[in-house]
Amino acid sequence: LLADEQAAYAAANPRSQELYAAAGNLFGRVPMTWMNKWSGGFPLYLDHARGARITDVDGHTYVDFALGDTAAMAGHSPEATIKAVATRYADQGGATTMLPTADAQWVGAELTARFRMPLWSFSLSATDANRWAIRLARLATGRPKILVFGYSYHGSVDEAFALAGPDGSTISRPGNVAPPVPVDLTTRAAVWNDLASVEAALQHEDVAAILTEPALTNIGIVLPEPGFMAGLRELATRYGALLMIDETHTFSAGWGGATTAWGLEPDIFVIGKSIGGGISCGAYGLSESVAGAVTRHTSSGEADIIDVGGVGGTLAGNALSLAAMRATLGEVLTPEAFERMIALATRFTEGVEASLAEFGLPWSIAQLGARAEYRFVSPAPRTGEEAAAAADDELDAYMHLAMCNRGILMTPFHNMALMCPDTTAEDVDRHTAAFREAVAALRS
Ligand code: PLP
Repeated sequence: LLADEQAAYAAANPRSQELYAAAGNLFGRVPMTWMNKWSGGFPLYLDHARGARITDVDGHTYVDFALGDTAAMAGHSPEATIKAVATRYADQGGATTMLPTADAQWVGAELTARFRMPLWSFSLSATDANRWAIRLARLATGRPKILVFGYSYHGSVDEAFALAGPDGSTISRPGNVAPPVPVDLTTRAAVWNDLASVEAALQHEDVAAILTEPALTNIGIVLPEPGFMAGLRELATRYGALLMIDETHTFSAGWGGATTAWGLEPDIFVIGKSIGGGISCGAYGLSESVAGAVTRHTSSGEADIIDVGGVGGTLAGNALSLAAMRATLGEVLTPEAFERMIALATRFTEGVEASLAEFGLPWSIAQLGARAEYRFVSPAPRTGEEAAAAADDELDAYMHLAMCNRGILMTPFHNMALMCPDTTAEDVDRHTAAFREAVAALRS
């Protein structure tokens, strides 16, 4: 079946294939080549995209549920963001001056309203926000290590590619090209949904921060069990570590992310991708107490973050990025938009569940607000390790390609779908029908 789908893909996409064959001087093309894993060798080349639609160079238009792995959760090129960016870039100018604009204050206040953190800094990506916030966590606590969960992902952050090894040790994730520093000097790893493993790691009293998503989303969605997030908060406080929550993906949980939807209480909050509506951006928020611990007072009495080196960058908080965040948060990713997006993700989930029941497939589906993801095991995995062990590359490739050949793009690395404000019920129903057809073929 996979070979049939690959043959159909190759036949339908000659122009993409031609462009890829000609691109001999491009190297290190991740993530541009993510589709190769299952397409049989070449990615679709983008021609244009708007809202929830992508059109490739062969003229096919897709319903885009991948949405740039969350970077386009506001939809592709929302009107309000186009206008704000054009005004700043073309009319006003000064996209990158290293001076603040009035938008900075507006965006900071909006982030506070949504995610409850009082003080904000900007970056150009979630990776940078995580890296910089990790430095500040070390500075605030005087401790060297970061605690992460096995198979979590927080961007290309050296500390985060770790797994819990036997006997409480921390080991590098297979394939990680780490700096020449043993990972157990920088990191402790624990197992998701296993508070005992977290407590065992924290007992060494060398962890500056627990860095986590509120649900794992990078090994498919692995939801927290009841009490797990509250347990993390309690353990962090008890053992003197900070709780650092990365909502880059879990922002899908609602207007204020999982932090507000579930009443979480982070010390440090990180977000990137979607809040700029397609323009590079990122932000991290600090609690008053963390901010106080990393603050110096200048001779003029002004408070600022201590210059620790490696925090901040030339383009961080640039005027274009801030204009984009203001428009995207203020006019696109509104509370009403989230309500619609979440209802559509529920419709998506129900559509998949109907086919699973009809064909008796032992798969499972998890929903996190505006996103949903199915996988080829049931019950759903409880940990990153279980999720990794349950991966089925061949089925994964088949389902991705079967959807693609039927005009639907799913998130690159998993069978995940995200809704944006432009996604429609018809788009979801188109997936439901395509999914049914693909699983019926599997069963025949
Ligand atoms: N944090 C989380 C939870 C992510 O999933 C990702 C990327 O997928 C990042 C951070 C890094 O984002 P970026 O690659 O845009 O810097």
